[in-house]
Amino acid sequence: MDRVVLITGASRGLGASIAKLFLDNNDIVYINYNNSREEALKIKHNYSKAIIVKGDVSKELDVKEMVDKIRLEQGHLDVIVNNAAIADDSLVEDKTKESFSKVLETNLIGAFLVAKYGKKIMDSGVIINIASTNGIDTNYPYSLDYDASKAGLISLTHNLAIEYAPNIRVNAVAPGWINTDMNKELDKEFIDKECDKILLKRFAEPEEIAKVVFFIASEAASYINGSVIRVDGGLK
Ligand code: NAP
Repeated sequence: MDRVVLITGASRGLGASIAKLFLDNNDIVYINYNNSREEALKIKHNYSKAIIVKGDVSKELDVKEMVDKIRLEQGHLDVIVNNAAIADDSLVEDKTKESFSKVLETNLIGAFLVAKYGKKIMDSGVIINIASTNGIDTNYPYSLDYDASKAGLISLTHNLAIEYAPNIRVNAVAPGWINTDMNKELDKEFIDKECDKILLKRFAEPEEIAKVVFFIASEAASYINGSVIRVDGGLK
């Protein structure tokens, strides 16, 4: 039977790569987007089983409506990938309560809401939270809000794995640097310095992370649960 998959923030970057892998596997994929409707539509045009769904994951009503649409159209959900996130890097002194809250609401509380409401239509299956090595290592105080959200997401993963066992596996993937829009403002000097810390001497392509997500959602990963899988090219 085709799996029904919800991927948040799947209009661009890693989320779009993950969506295409599931679609290539003939799964039914709900491509959540917030602002990038055109990008989401481009994926839909290429895949008959892609369904686009607008929603801000930080808004409870949007998440409820998104899950309700899936319930009405498919009756159930098999896989959730909590991928939507924002970064708002700045000097620590320039950060505000509002900017910090927005990062937490999108990256952490959004994942909680999608897991909470999505679970209501999951009898079994897999939830994969896209964390980051920033949620484990601490190197960049200008992203302390983002790092806190990802550390929180790892904790959420462990707790939901307990709560949803034994029928639903919950894991996190923690990528290192990826070539996506999230890093488009980085200058070459910074990128070169970061690449020096990576054994593979380069950022990941989104497809390289997507393949790990696809594996964790598969039967081949049936005994991986409550885990955080680093995919960072050997970041030191
Ligand atoms: P990206 O290129 O900036 O794309 C972010 C995606 O999240 C977009 O599709 C965006 O949708 C969506 N999004 C943002 N806020 C949203 C909201 N409130 N509701 C719904 N969707 C929302 O980022 P990326 O690099 O692909 O990142 C994907 C995941 O990998 C994130 O969890 C990120 O933290 C993680 N990650 C990235 C890196 C990296 O180096 N890039 C490293 C480690 C982990 P719209 O454009 O439609 O608004």
